Amino acid sequence: MIEKQLQCIRCGKQYNMSLFFEGCPKCFSEGKVSPLEVIYDYESIKRVTNGKIWDPNYPSMWKFKSLLPVNNEESIISLGEGDTPLIRNNNLCQKVGLENLYFKNEGCNPNWAFKDRFQSVSISMALEKKFKKVITCSTGNHGLSAAAYSCAGGLKCMVLCRKDMSLLLRKMLLFYGSTAIDAEKIDVKRIIKKATKNYNWYPSTAAFPFSMSNPFGMEGYKTIAYEIYSKTKQVPNWIFMPVGGGDGLYGVWKGFIELEKMGLTDRLPKMVGCQTELINPLVQSFDKKLHDSVEVKEVRSIAVSIADSVCGFHALKSLYDSGGLAISVPDEEIINAVRILASYGIAPETASAATFACLLQLAKKGSLQKDDIIVCVLTSTILKWPEMITKMVDIANIAKDTKRINEILEKT
Ligand SMILES: [Zn+2]
Repeated sequence: MIEKQLQCIRCGKQYNMSLFFEGCPKCFSEGKVSPLEVIYDYESIKRVTNGKIWDPNYPSMWKFKSLLPVNNEESIISLGEGDTPLIRNNNLCQKVGLENLYFKNEGCNPNWAFKDRFQSVSISMALEKKFKKVITCSTGNHGLSAAAYSCAGGLKCMVLCRKDMSLLLRKMLLFYGSTAIDAEKIDVKRIIKKATKNYNWYPSTAAFPFSMSNPFGMEGYKTIAYEIYSKTKQVPNWIFMPVGGGDGLYGVWKGFIELEKMGLTDRLPKMVGCQTELINPLVQSFDKKLHDSVEVKEVRSIAVSIADSVCGFHALKSLYDSGGLAISVPDEEIINAVRILASYGIAPETASAATFACLLQLAKKGSLQKDDIIVCVLTSTILKWPEMITKMVDIANIAKDTKRINEILEKT
């Protein structure tokens, strides 16, 4: 078995694989919240795998299981997550003047979001650590995946639904047998802390903005980097990620760092954190060169999944370490990006389309080379937000009678 440890992303202190749900105890005692990450004996992995870090006979992202924290194979809860398409559309490449523009379509996961990767690892760890109850808080994707993997593993699940979660997603939580709680008027942080400390619930939450965070789920995100590498045999110049708390951004960055540590690449991508101008703590903090995020006012944005008022230390670290940057765009540009992608058969949720909107802005400034390899990670699909689709189309355009059909046949 490959040796694993937890390590503080801020101070570097290492711990055994115990359950630290308040981040690094040392930093916590000094009044700072610092997420922990799982580190591995990369030299041993290099020796054992001889460069083949994935098992081609194993389905799903668990083909990388030697680099995931679960020890017992029986604990793995998989619904077939990962192995999502990496799309390149020639017409779209020509339109934007970039030859190697790819989209990692995470909407193809079992619950239509990259959160399946997080929850598959996190809830497998809950099973391994003998928990019976899972609690989390979500604007949609995170909670739905928690609900699915909890019931797949025979665990109870409670999801505190943040105010903008779509009705469809709330219904889906019930569909999977979870307890759904409207969290608009409750103190979410207090409830999660109480459930974890007093009643033995397992917090399957992102690192930020919650006080109780899960150190294992983020490992799932790094498999996005492994998949990009295993499919293309190279590391992109740029990765565009939508950013809320920042686990996804850091997780993907960590995946590339690990590829380097295992001697598979000597090149790393620049990470670009993408947000809406309405709520952009990552951008404001990055512009001020801060290591800890500013907290901004919560306002409504169409990019619901990334509308967090604060992001994590680890999100900013991945930008500084990779030589990347943070960009935010107005909601109107995000809607425009959704429309453009839809015209090429790609249907991301609005938060995911922020990546393409930010890419267009960067391309306009001349910061991207024509032959740069670029990947926008589309973390979920707009199908989960039917009310947004309704806003973007006119259903009066659906032809109903023979006269109209004939007109279309003649004029199209
Ligand atoms: Zn620390």
